[in-house]
Amino acid sequence: MLDLAWSIPDAIHLEIGEPDFAPPEHVLNAIQRAIAEGRGGYPPTAGLPELRERLVEKLARVNGITTTADAVVVSNGGCQGLFAVLSALLDEGDVVALPNPGWPNYRSMVGLLGAQVATYSLSAERGHVPDPAEIERVIAEGAKVVVLCNPSNPTGSVTPPEVVEELVEVARSSDAWLLSDECYDELYFGDAPPLSPASIAPDGPIVSVYSFSKSHAMTGWRIGYVAGPPSVAKLVEDAQEPLVMGVNAPGQYGAIAALADDDHVVQMREAYRIRRDAVVGAFRERGYSPPTPEGAFYLWLDISDVAGSDEDFVLSLLRDQHVALTAGSSFGDGGAGYIRLSLAAGKAALLTAVDRIDEQIRSGGGR
Ligand code: PLP
Repeated sequence: MLDLAWSIPDAIHLEIGEPDFAPPEHVLNAIQRAIAEGRGGYPPTAGLPELRERLVEKLARVNGITTTADAVVVSNGGCQGLFAVLSALLDEGDVVALPNPGWPNYRSMVGLLGAQVATYSLSAERGHVPDPAEIERVIAEGAKVVVLCNPSNPTGSVTPPEVVEELVEVARSSDAWLLSDECYDELYFGDAPPLSPASIAPDGPIVSVYSFSKSHAMTGWRIGYVAGPPSVAKLVEDAQEPLVMGVNAPGQYGAIAALADDDHVVQMREAYRIRRDAVVGAFRERGYSPPTPEGAFYLWLDISDVAGSDEDFVLSLLRDQHVALTAGSSFGDGGAGYIRLSLAAGKAALLTAVDRIDEQIRSGGGR
């Protein structure tokens, strides 16, 4: 889909999760300074000590998590952090419960580790948030790790605090781990960040993963981090050592600078909120009822009653209207009948895209 989209020169790209903002100026300056001053040698495997200290402060300030630097490991983006945690927690054949629909990389990671996938649903009836009773069931059926993604890619939903509390209770009363992917933690549209499971159960079986990719538009610098019990952090560090040795040092200096100033995050969040309101409003004016995204930067639209298969629809939309989206089925069979539209584009392009999606549906395209 990506290749196809890039072969159409004037396509509007709403298919990927890449922020359309640049990293903050002060972050780029800090990276350049680190390079100019020769601070680009091998970093410690678990991350620069100063960054780990700053992350402890950030986790307290934003996520309500009380922790210590030895329980925080810097990773090559959230992606490699998630993989390192899974490799630390899983043995071959173990079962991991994944959200359906969910980010497809989880499934690939589980496959690479020789573990098995079970899924739990993020149904429209429940506002696309996990059902604690279903999580209890998948654990009873053998899941050793439950991956949560809050805010959710692809649905843009935020799990309400009371549901997070129930999920923590379910995990605590079992032998299972919660792996809480909070890579979109600072992109929320409510009054407060989503409740972090580890904030209410500091000693619980919970590992949280974060990233600078979305919050600071630092996708290419590959800086993420893992916070969990010190014993798991040590295993994550050990898992990183033979594979990556550490994370690029200039990028880590950029991350230290990023944590010193929140203005950029606040401005980006506001920009996404304005786009979200404009796009949801435009769909509603045309008679659609998308759920309002509460976090991340995705709009998740049910087209099952008005178009053919989601895969045929996104292909026909690209061909006829030059708008690239992601088919819901790419996120698992729970996404069939949906399309995901990224809000990481200017408002004018987004509103043009809404017009074209509507036109394509009305003209029967994709059927
Ligand atoms: N988790 C989710 C749900 C994502 O969508 C992404 C990226 O798209 C990541 C984690 C990892 O991002 P990164 O490796 O850039 O930190």
